[in-house]
Amino acid sequence: MTTRTAQCACGRVEMTVQDEPLLVLLCHCDFCQKRSGNVFIASAHFAEEQVVAISGETKVYNGLEVDGVGAVAVPGGIDYHFCTTCGSTLYWVSVSPLTGQRILAVAVGNFVDPDFPMPTTEFFTKFRHHWVPPVPDAVQLYDPLDGSVSIESMVPSFRDDPDAE
Ligand SMILES: [Zn+2]
Ligand SMILES: [Zn+2]
Repeated sequence: MTTRTAQCACGRVEMTVQDEPLLVLLCHCDFCQKRSGNVFIASAHFAEEQVVAISGETKVYNGLEVDGVGAVAVPGGIDYHFCTTCGSTLYWVSVSPLTGQRILAVAVGNFVDPDFPMPTTEFFTKFRHHWVPPVPDAVQLYDPLDGSVSIESMVPSFRDDPDAE
């Protein structure tokens, strides 16, 4: 069984997860760019049961609840947890609109693991910076909210039946 630990920049907040992520994705959306200060974000998604431990003090920002921003097909919005000392956003929590399952997404960079599994899906490629190439073989979603794709097809690993391809 694989366990991995993610840490914020100062080391006060730590999260340990087990087994492989359900999904690893890149998001290029305007909210993720502003929130992170980066040109895209990489996140690894885990079911609540895969979380072994979380420690350290975080503050939460839910953009949808507070300001009506940052909601990407997630009705309750997303709770972004950041370290109260260094400000790193280590993980975020949402409820899957498909299954009702609580999903914890961890910022891939906080694992500092060059061998971490590659992203298989890219969201909001319409915001992609021109110098950022697509990840080989990753599903490319230009605008997940334009109605051209279903949530099911965006996130294959969230399907009830993992064999239904
Ligand atoms: Zn910190
Ligand atoms: Zn985003």
